[in-house]
Amino acid sequence: MSFSDIKSLTNAELRNFLAENGQKPYRAEQIRVWLYKNMAESFEGMNVPKELCELLEKTFRIKSLTQETRLESSDGTVKWLYKTADGLPVETVMIPTETRASVCVSTQSGCAMGCAFCRTGKMGLNRSLEAGEILEQIINVWRIQTVTNVIFMGMGEPLMNLESVHRACETLHDQKAFSMGKGRLTVSTSGVVPKIAELLERNTPCQLAVSLVAADNETRASLMPVNKSWALPELLEGIDNYIRKSDEWVTLEYILIKGKTCSPKAAADLIKIVKPRRCKVNAIVLNDCEDPNLQAPSQEEIDEFMRLVRSEAVQINIRNPRGRDIFAACGQLAMRL
Ligand code: SAH
Ligand code: SF4
Repeated sequence: MSFSDIKSLTNAELRNFLAENGQKPYRAEQIRVWLYKNMAESFEGMNVPKELCELLEKTFRIKSLTQETRLESSDGTVKWLYKTADGLPVETVMIPTETRASVCVSTQSGCAMGCAFCRTGKMGLNRSLEAGEILEQIINVWRIQTVTNVIFMGMGEPLMNLESVHRACETLHDQKAFSMGKGRLTVSTSGVVPKIAELLERNTPCQLAVSLVAADNETRASLMPVNKSWALPELLEGIDNYIRKSDEWVTLEYILIKGKTCSPKAAADLIKIVKPRRCKVNAIVLNDCEDPNLQAPSQEEIDEFMRLVRSEAVQINIRNPRGRDIFAACGQLAMRL
């Protein structure tokens, strides 16, 4: 595998690279301190021989993203638009709460999955990001403040770029880098079932969230093309396997859409799915999208839906939309300024 950003390499790969180029392998640890503890933006100034510095400079990039804009919401949420070295848009969102600062990272520029309710989906896919490009989004926030959580819920389908997502999680988890516990890293998928199993096999240090969106197969298929490849029963089987083998809880993301996912029948379907499983539900009211057939329900409909689901003792939280005024909320990342 060849990378253009040095942050995409594992420690072992960096050691190999150094050995192959007549350098001392232990310098790898020194370089990683420079990258992740010092969060340096250039190789210059690193305490290594000049010749090694030059070798790194001509082989790798240390900085891959250029900031195009930064927008701050009235609720404190911040969104950055970056361009990659090849000119592609990437967005990052930082969501502050009283005790936390969560960074929502993009794993791809755009997304190929084509969900009907999502603006990123409308963009189509430019390309997957390297691990270094994912990490850089987080490092840029770390330079300003402590990052307590990372959610892989920005642009893109993380499990269609599992290699890079795995590498990014490993570095975030690494005690010699960011030392973030696996409970602080959440990877969200639209339901790429075989890759859920792979995430488990690789033992990627993260928690799993699944965009259930709708609780019956037909509605889900009408909103998410991915449901045609892996239908709801297969997805649930994949989730069950994950829970059985990992002994973890899985978060299900559910979108409240008028006339589709917010009815008493939808509540009953959702209860049927969640009750027997180690799952909790994050419900989110549909954010404005380009499809005129998809609308947010009224407050009464939302309240009634939540009451019905809660009456069965199912764990469901409704998430406040954050950063709506700057198009930083879920499904809004599409380089609109
Ligand atoms: N591609 C991955 C992760 C990024 S999407 C996935 O789909 O899981 C992040 C979340 O935003 C998903 O749960 C998705 O269902 C949700 N989302 C997308 N568009 C939305 C919209 N218009 N309103 C509310 N949530 C939306
Ligand atoms: Fe892609 Fe997720 Fe948006 Fe679907 S919801 S189009 S998978 S980013």
